[in-house]
Amino acid sequence: MVEGEGVWLTDSEGRKYIDANASIWTNIHGHNHGVINDAIRDQLDKVAHTSYLGFANPRASELAQRLVGFFPDDDLQRVFFSDNGSTAVECAVKMAVQYRMQTGDAERTHLIAFDQGYHGDTMGAASLGGVGEFFDRFRKFGYPVSHVRDMADLLSLDSSEINKTAAVIIEPLVQGVNQMHVWPKNMLLQLRQWCDRHGVHLILDEVMTGFGRTGTMFACQQENVTPDFLCLAKGLTGGYLPLAATLVREEIYQAFRGGAERAFYYGHSYTANQLGCAAALASLDVFEQENTLSRLPEKIKCLDELLTKMSYYHPQIYGVRQCGMVAGVELRDANGNTFPTTDRVGEAVSLVAREYGVLSRPIRDTLVIMPPLSISQEEIQVMCDGISRAITCYFD
Ligand SMILES: *Cc1c(COP(=O)(O)O)cnc(C)c1O
Repeated sequence: MVEGEGVWLTDSEGRKYIDANASIWTNIHGHNHGVINDAIRDQLDKVAHTSYLGFANPRASELAQRLVGFFPDDDLQRVFFSDNGSTAVECAVKMAVQYRMQTGDAERTHLIAFDQGYHGDTMGAASLGGVGEFFDRFRKFGYPVSHVRDMADLLSLDSSEINKTAAVIIEPLVQGVNQMHVWPKNMLLQLRQWCDRHGVHLILDEVMTGFGRTGTMFACQQENVTPDFLCLAKGLTGGYLPLAATLVREEIYQAFRGGAERAFYYGHSYTANQLGCAAALASLDVFEQENTLSRLPEKIKCLDELLTKMSYYHPQIYGVRQCGMVAGVELRDANGNTFPTTDRVGEAVSLVAREYGVLSRPIRDTLVIMPPLSISQEEIQVMCDGISRAITCYFD
């Protein structure tokens, strides 16, 4: 890929594609956006990067202020910066465990995560994940974690298990890597209540769902839930630069004060990179300037209608799962049976879609549709047409 403009990418042969998976779920306002470009250039003329270990920088301070401002009553007041989604999760988990050590609860070191979840590829984050192919061979090196299928499964845990648990982690509203599995309505709220009842912290991994992807700035806002830890990355910089943030409650921050032995020893070289923070601030400005969130409902509806129509038309579409501007189109044979994995049908159809100008990356036999939020309704139509034609072309 050599150039981008809005939702369009151009490859080295001059072919153009709609970036239907937002460059692996990162891009928000389109490529080559003037406001973000200018913000990065302006910052570049000042300084690109300075260490955040023992120092602060104005862009990071402003960004932290803007991020906590999205939450009511200053519920999440503190921000820890890192570079990517996996490290945002590592920070949350290490803080959750060290918090217990420093508040007289040192036995509470276990984590609970959900089956088929995905929280990143570093060793710790991957151990929270529930996708066997990614982690089973490393299982013994990871965090002590129990996996549950759903709320019913969580409710059936006995108290000895719960009492050793520091935190529960979940991808709120929709599990991305799990082929866009959408959680039942109110599940997040029930989970928050369960955590409160049992004195267990709630870590929300909004690395994918954050920054408007599900229709609201953050997915947790749809059920009025505030977590104890909030992990952000992918869309934070509008999809421009690697940057991550872990937001925490004031009470958690306070447990790390009072001397070197209580400190949180965690710092990456590029923590709070100034160019990344400048891009993130500009991305938040664009949300306001372009009314990104208030323009989403009509786009979500348009996508929903086109995908519904598409699923009537193609017997191979087994199901469409959609949560805001995130959608998965699952392909199966006309009898509803999954294809043999060795057929790699999802991959094959996605390759055909490229011929029709749509670029995405499937998960097994689920086609992923997650364009930049800036996509117009006309472009949604073009994208869906391309996918529909690819399905026809592959199966006929
Ligand atoms: C992508 C993703 C991660 C990992 O982020 P990286 O920046 O790739 O390390 C973690 N959690 C979720 C939900 C993700 O979608």
